[in-house]
Amino acid sequence: MNTKTQKLAPFAFLFIMCLSISGVFAQSRAELAFVTKFFDELQPKSIATNREYCGYFGRDENQSFVATRPIRGREGSCLPADPISEMDIFASYHTHGAFSYDFDSELPSSDDLRADIAEETNGYIATPGGRIWFNDANRERAVMICGRNCTVSDSDFEADGARGVRNRYSLEQLYVRENE
Ligand SMILES: [Zn+2]
Repeated sequence: MNTKTQKLAPFAFLFIMCLSISGVFAQSRAELAFVTKFFDELQPKSIATNREYCGYFGRDENQSFVATRPIRGREGSCLPADPISEMDIFASYHTHGAFSYDFDSELPSSDDLRADIAEETNGYIATPGGRIWFNDANRERAVMICGRNCTVSDSDFEADGARGVRNRYSLEQLYVRENE
């Protein structure tokens, strides 16, 4: 190994580290901060009314993060309004309402992931336990990007009443879980 290679080696290592990190979290810190703050404001209403709220995240003409006004859905579904045209959408979003023993709501449903794949847009989901999930439309999988109490959670959340969740699910794995 000559001196030149030795000097370059640490940089090459750093570069590989960065590549692998960006492969896991495609989102920037700024995007995650925006998403978390947005859910912090929306979760109390979604939990208090036990309704899903949904919409889209995007960037405006100044590249600032923006969100469409949350549409109120039902306890287990929500249909977002058409986004405003000046906005460059990067993801859908929705909340999962309050904690319930009847809903497996600590992760996206297969319908959630299928809808994002069909729309060719990613998706963010906040759960009653305060978890934040990212639906990766390209890779067709759901990834938990932030765990319990990452955003505002339901004070009635019963860990014993909710099924444990893994960190990521393929569409197939979501189907399997829903039919268990
Ligand atoms: Zn959902």
